[in-house]
Amino acid sequence: MSRDSRYDILFEPMPIGPVTAKNRFYQVPHCNGGGYRDPSAVAEMRGIKSQGGWGVIFTEQCEMHHSSEIAPFIELRLWDDQDIPMIAKMADRMKEHGALAGIQLAYSGINGPNLYTKEVPLAPTAMPIRTFTNDPVQARALDKQDIKDLRRWFVNAAKRCKLAGFDLICLYGAHGFGIFQHFLSTATNQRCDEYGGSLENRARFVAEVVEDVRNAVGDTMGLTLRLSLDEMIGDLGFANSEVRDFIEMHKDLPDLWDLAHGAWEDCSGPSRFKEEAAQFDLVTGIKALTSKPVVGVGRFTSPDVMARQITSGTLDFIGCARPSIADPFLPKKIEEGRIDDIRECIGCNICITGDMTMSISRCTQNPTFMEEWRKGWHPERMNDKGPSSNVLVIGAGPAGLEAARACAERGYDVALAEAGQTLGGRVTKERALPGLSAWGRVVDYREYQLSQKPNVQTYFNSELDAAQILEFGFEHICIATGAHWRADGVSRQHVTPMPIHPDMTVLTPDDLMAGRMPSGAVTIYDDDHYYMGGVLAELLVQNGCTVTLITPCAYVSDWTNNTLEQAEIHKRLALMGVDIQLNRGVTAIGKDHITTNCTYTDLTRDQHTDAVVIVASRLENNAVYTDLKNRQDQWADAGIKSVKLIGDANAPGPIAWATYAGHRFARELDQPDIGDALPFRREIAELARD
Ligand code: ADP
Ligand code: SF4
Repeated sequence: MSRDSRYDILFEPMPIGPVTAKNRFYQVPHCNGGGYRDPSAVAEMRGIKSQGGWGVIFTEQCEMHHSSEIAPFIELRLWDDQDIPMIAKMADRMKEHGALAGIQLAYSGINGPNLYTKEVPLAPTAMPIRTFTNDPVQARALDKQDIKDLRRWFVNAAKRCKLAGFDLICLYGAHGFGIFQHFLSTATNQRCDEYGGSLENRARFVAEVVEDVRNAVGDTMGLTLRLSLDEMIGDLGFANSEVRDFIEMHKDLPDLWDLAHGAWEDCSGPSRFKEEAAQFDLVTGIKALTSKPVVGVGRFTSPDVMARQITSGTLDFIGCARPSIADPFLPKKIEEGRIDDIRECIGCNICITGDMTMSISRCTQNPTFMEEWRKGWHPERMNDKGPSSNVLVIGAGPAGLEAARACAERGYDVALAEAGQTLGGRVTKERALPGLSAWGRVVDYREYQLSQKPNVQTYFNSELDAAQILEFGFEHICIATGAHWRADGVSRQHVTPMPIHPDMTVLTPDDLMAGRMPSGAVTIYDDDHYYMGGVLAELLVQNGCTVTLITPCAYVSDWTNNTLEQAEIHKRLALMGVDIQLNRGVTAIGKDHITTNCTYTDLTRDQHTDAVVIVASRLENNAVYTDLKNRQDQWADAGIKSVKLIGDANAPGPIAWATYAGHRFARELDQPDIGDALPFRREIAELARD
């Protein structure tokens, strides 16, 4: 197949200063939770994107001097020459298939608490450090000598980037994270000298640094400036109108304008709160203010939307972070006319949790993300088929679907047995909940892939038991039968069932998703802390209930702090009229009331309610597995070589955990047993000699 001519424009080359991008697919900087701790894993991940056809590929933010760092968050470091080999490896891998290699230099200023280096943070104006964690640290104001030093440090860093082989340098001034924004915004720049006050003065620092860096490396490297389209903090902030004034005043300052948005929460808004191309209005018209190319983001996954950004004169480059994570081969698939094969980002922000938890990122849609080097997993190519020929996958939720897809891709004959009448398991139920429709892409992508494979047979209405499985005679059995929400309150507050009066209406998320809707005053007891409690509160309000949400946590949907949506969830529920009670548990459920307790004082009080929805924990549906295990002596006669329990049936978790488990099952099928060995590669710091 060849590409649709409507998308030709996406493949036109475009210069960025002295270098030229081969097409308009621009992977903007994005974190990955690996950074300097896992440099080879990061390099391989970027290299895969080069294979996937991206024209421009950037690193995540890179600390360019030791006087400004963001430990414990793990990004990149370029503090001195010792860091050059690490970033050079990344540049090499990015360029392997003709992409331009970019590095994002960050001086975190008012956003860098320097917990690791113990240096006093420097910022345009002395004020408390502005971090997610409200660190009790203040920055000192840069004096004139500091500003001279900082300009030199940028030049030194730029020279190191050139030595490392990069084509592009991005100066970071977006999301509240980069010093250029701190100078430009009157919220963080209250100086009275020539670097503060008027917009011209506030722009002085960035103009000087661009000139310095251009003089040092501009003959071979393109310079980009990353700004937020609007700081989103009102008049004091660097608002959209001032951004436009700044670009008009400094039309040709960088070789490309990279326009992000607001704080990171605004820019990487989840699909629950933001549509594709959400920044369209804020970015429209900016291109006319400059002769330099413009890149913008907006969780672009549709080639039609992408092409429209360019034909309408809105953008020159299609900036993608999450869409490039979910499908590193997105450009190639458009080029080859394989639109239906695109694995669209669902906007769940699980990838971001890898950074926020300082672990390593995963992606719900692409289980190979950050496993390209660690496990040798390629997003588009499976390992060769082993000696066996067939697999029975039981359960068509995200774990079973991915196991079936990936096993079929390896060349096995796959039978997929599903008790119900649809594919998708929990995702098919959850996609119908308020704000979660885009999550259905987890099913849609896999359903289409399975439909294209002659070696997969799907059987609906097939609730299998151990006896049937033994009868069928498949070589490998993959059990992905999922989990169900428990109704007895067991989770974190209660490790054994809580007292519940039999006359009270007590429901679980499964009940609500099956359409069993309570009425009147409904209390949600959320001891799960991810999205479900908050989403069900919305559903109940939509269905006319008066809703109280009680959680032992200090935040509604606490874990969604890691997916950057907690504040939006609280705001939405509060505006819908949900009575939010934080730091309270539920000790007992009575006939017509609940007894709640303060998590600090343990003082209790009774509250009337007509029904209770318990969002606590889930129980594995593992009966078939247990039954089969008990009949292990019959496996050989039945021709069974292996039985594996995966996904929620093994241990309930987010959807990303299930697709990962399905993928892992397929990869490891017929592979030699590695015994006690570590199942992935890792890098260990070289010990100093003295
Ligand atoms: P996961 O997230 O691990 O993929 P889900 O709960 O989403 O789990 O999906 C499990 C799927 O397995 C559901 O669609 C359910 O109908 C199906 N299922 C459960 N038990 C059986 C069984 N014994 N035979 C066939 N399908 C089953
Ligand atoms: Fe998109 Fe979710 Fe994957 Fe992130 S984890 S790239 S938001 S699908």
